[in-house]
Amino acid sequence: MVKRKRTYNLHRIKATWPYTVPEAAKALGVHKNAVLRWLKEGLQANRDTRPYLIRGDELIRFLSARQQSRRRKCSPTEFYCFKCHEPRKAYENIVDLEFVSPSRFRVKAICEVCDTTLNKMQGIRNLTKIHQTFHVQQLAGQHLIESASPNLNSDKEPNP
Ligand SMILES: [Zn+2]
Repeated sequence: MVKRKRTYNLHRIKATWPYTVPEAAKALGVHKNAVLRWLKEGLQANRDTRPYLIRGDELIRFLSARQQSRRRKCSPTEFYCFKCHEPRKAYENIVDLEFVSPSRFRVKAICEVCDTTLNKMQGIRNLTKIHQTFHVQQLAGQHLIESASPNLNSDKEPNP
């Protein structure tokens, strides 16, 4: 997945030049399967010819739009939604925390636009900030601890 975040050296593409899939792949230093995937994802090619020809300026347009959207930073209250392809806010500002190690935890939420599960990893030093920013629901782990605690029932009327 890290691979897909790479930035491409678009200076190596000549805007007025038509590229075949292997040529475009070679110019950008990627596998041709990457270029074939881009064609499925909206890169335009002249399909009247065999092999397909992709204009250099179209390659540049497609890849810079892609890099642009990748670069859109999420604010502290936002998560990147892989369905919306946009930074989105958590539904009702509610999040769940899931500890993956003593120093790292995952913040999980629901996209307020499309209901997709959102999540981002945080370091433990951000824990206070997360609690201040969001309405944090009970952790799965803490749930167990708390239900074992007799204090849980302290708000109930004592039996006469
Ligand atoms: Zn979404």
